[in-house]
Amino acid sequence: TTATTLTGGEVIAMDQQYVMRAWSKQGQAAMAVEKAEGIYFWDYDGNRYVDMSSLLVNANIGHQHPKVVKAIQEQAEKMCFMAPSYATDVKSLLAKKLVELAGGDMARVFFTNAGADANENAIKMARIATGRTKVFSGYHSYHGATLAASNASGDSRRFAAEIGGASGFVKFSNPSPYRDNLPFETEEALTAFYLKQLGEQIQYEGPYNVAAILLETVIGANGIIAYPKGYLEGVRNLCNSYGIVMICDEVMAGFYRTGTAFAFQQYGFTPDMITFAKGVTSGYVPLGGVIVSEWISEYFTENQLQCGLTYSGHTLACAAGLATLEVYEDENIAANVEKIGVLLKDYLEEMKAKHPCVGDVRTYGLFCGVELVLDKETREPLVPFNTPNRIMPAIYKELKDRGFSTFGRETTISVCPPLTITEAELAEVLPILDEVLTLVDATYL
Ligand code: PLP
Repeated sequence: TTATTLTGGEVIAMDQQYVMRAWSKQGQAAMAVEKAEGIYFWDYDGNRYVDMSSLLVNANIGHQHPKVVKAIQEQAEKMCFMAPSYATDVKSLLAKKLVELAGGDMARVFFTNAGADANENAIKMARIATGRTKVFSGYHSYHGATLAASNASGDSRRFAAEIGGASGFVKFSNPSPYRDNLPFETEEALTAFYLKQLGEQIQYEGPYNVAAILLETVIGANGIIAYPKGYLEGVRNLCNSYGIVMICDEVMAGFYRTGTAFAFQQYGFTPDMITFAKGVTSGYVPLGGVIVSEWISEYFTENQLQCGLTYSGHTLACAAGLATLEVYEDENIAANVEKIGVLLKDYLEEMKAKHPCVGDVRTYGLFCGVELVLDKETREPLVPFNTPNRIMPAIYKELKDRGFSTFGRETTISVCPPLTITEAELAEVLPILDEVLTLVDATYL
């Protein structure tokens, strides 16, 4: 049997029998997808879904963009892969472009296969360059599923990686202002409180034992939460004081998701390293990496870089990355994010005012979250923290049955459409959210 002759039912049955699926008990049926284009994908029965999460917040330019497909086809005909020890045109060009896009004193790129190994290698480089062990990261975070990236992650997906463990990973309670609900009158006072807490924890751990502080510039999977004003700059100052490497994980927030090429560019600081993946190729071919600043680059000019992957700088992936970056520029995606972002923000604020179940909405460009609560006053979440429940899956199913596909963790629904979405496309899909929130109000509150 060849792929093209399989029915949807056969695809599902074979998947159920043979494929090990991420973060799931095995043996459950998955929906089979036959094709994808633009902001849409279709099942084998011809049902159309709007991809309101850009799959895993990676398909930033939507599906099957002809320019990227063509670049992949042309590269495949020319040379699919050359080993990392050789220079190739697409790798050289992409590295130069990424360094320029990051700006500041960013100097070089180490390419990886995806996001987890980007963080894995950033942590390794920080430890080598500082000779220190400890890595600080937040409870509200996800950094990937390999050993170090998983141990650095804050959410419960790290528990399995903690069996047998990895040493030196220190968690701190990174800000989640809506949930924390602290009684400060100004954002400045709130930021000062959070920074004082972090500063104290660094003292308790011994500042000169700390190699790196790893943070998502905007928290993604764990609720789409930006830091309060001045917080990231304060973290930068703490890093400067003690020679700690500041790593910004831009795997989800990067590549125009929040409006700028990288999210940190909307703040007044630059990190020592940026980790990226997802949007760099929009997922067409897996690719990730670490962009390092001048001093890290110089350290590894004097000292050997003890990092390597067979597919570091994979030729086909670099061609896809180069074409994707061209699409961001040629189609002025930044301007579209700004325009559509305002419309989406207004709409979600309207939903918050209208629906008792919406406690908070957070919108940064097209990186948006809708947090569901039982009670707006007390902010009690719709379902208790880290507890298996049928309610959130049922809500995603109601959305999906109506053609609105997305996901989320805990009680925050991600609303992260492809950055190419038009005003008309957005207007067509948003009423589905309103309808389902009405259902949530009536069913669960
Ligand atoms: N970092 C962040 C912020 C992520 O959101 C993810 C994936 O969702 C990762 C790292 C891990 O990336 P990957 O799944 O490509 O290994």
